[in-house]
Amino acid sequence: LASRLDGLDKPTVWHEFTPLAIEHNAVNLGQGFPDWDPPAFAVEAMRRATDPSLGRHANQYARSYAHLPLAQVLAEDYSQRFGRDINPETQIATAVGCTNALYCSLQGLVNPGDEVLLLEPAFDIYMSSVQMAGGVPVYCPLRPSTDDESTMKSASLHFTLDLDELEAKLTSKTKVLLLNTPHNPTGKMFSRTELEGISKLLEKYPHVTVLSDEVYEHIVFDTETEPHISPATIDGLWEKTLTLSSSGKTFSCTGWKVGWAVGPPHLVKALSAVQQWVNFSAPTPNQDAIAQSLLIAKQEAYEGYPSFYDYLAADYKRKRGLLTDALQSAGMTPVIPPGGFFIMADTSHISDFDYDPTQVTPATPTSTMPRDWALSRWLTQTVGVTAIPPSAFYSEPNVPLAKNLLRFAFCKGDDTILEAHKRLEAYF
Ligand code: GLN
Repeated sequence: LASRLDGLDKPTVWHEFTPLAIEHNAVNLGQGFPDWDPPAFAVEAMRRATDPSLGRHANQYARSYAHLPLAQVLAEDYSQRFGRDINPETQIATAVGCTNALYCSLQGLVNPGDEVLLLEPAFDIYMSSVQMAGGVPVYCPLRPSTDDESTMKSASLHFTLDLDELEAKLTSKTKVLLLNTPHNPTGKMFSRTELEGISKLLEKYPHVTVLSDEVYEHIVFDTETEPHISPATIDGLWEKTLTLSSSGKTFSCTGWKVGWAVGPPHLVKALSAVQQWVNFSAPTPNQDAIAQSLLIAKQEAYEGYPSFYDYLAADYKRKRGLLTDALQSAGMTPVIPPGGFFIMADTSHISDFDYDPTQVTPATPTSTMPRDWALSRWLTQTVGVTAIPPSAFYSEPNVPLAKNLLRFAFCKGDDTILEAHKRLEAYF
């Protein structure tokens, strides 16, 4: 295999825990994808997209940069949100999910040896995408704002960015700073103060591009006190930020793989120039269906809520409550997420479980077994509930930061979360 795959050709955390959950008939709160269907309007839009009698012309290749109807809807939406005129032809590109948008952007921006700053914990595909672009990942861990228990009230307080620590990692070789808000795996949302601090810092490093992954942008719970803030809307950041997102989480259709990028033409081009050679275009019917769905989601009332977005946020907030109760019934301390669909929980009170640090699995990220990994395996095998060990989201030297944490997903049916509650309560 090519050297760009060094260390990447082994099973991932997903390959280990999904089969393990199936083998032990465990309630799977591991891999994050909704276990229900997309809303009926999205399914109908997908059906209409491929129906030749409706004349949507969506069965052949799309325009390479973006299927124009989708680019137009996105341009209108982001023009409102960003308070500037977004040009659908030059400032929007689409891709095969956010994963592909991220991969193509990094391929388009990073030269071999360039450094890419990742804030840990970081979604695991970031590291591999940076490596395949020939970049060097540089890690800056998020840390609790104080050392007392109060930070457990919000992931945004428990996982804060220390700007001095970030500055110490910026060099003349830094090419990209990768941000993710709302954040996987913590649910943290970057505050205006943090983002303004980043903007100020980057004045001294004008060669740095910000990639902002916002796939959970519509899954936000306390918008009055903690709104989702796109870094691109912060003074000084528009010109250097490429905002990435996708439809998978918003419309519960992770398999449709429609992602996009919004930004100034010179950054959008970094993605689209690669995309035209890698995929040529993203699937047309999927893009067409998402264009229709974005319009409906914003304009029409849904299930008693003013819009689908209001419904989505409210439903996930309710599920966050169900999972919080379940984790507390096991004596765990959840770090409450203001966004996204995961909860990180402190498990330090659990000491009585099978843990042999010398026993590793093919997917473990270190040469000795991390505590959280062993605990997650034990929880699946013995209690019948599966979580993801967050050490999968840390670089090797920082894996110890994950040792007392587990990540649980609440993008699951109520019955599933309640069954996990029953099993956790019965065992602990
Ligand atoms: N983003 C999801 C998660 O973090 C799914 C990951 C994946 O399938 N690679 O669980």
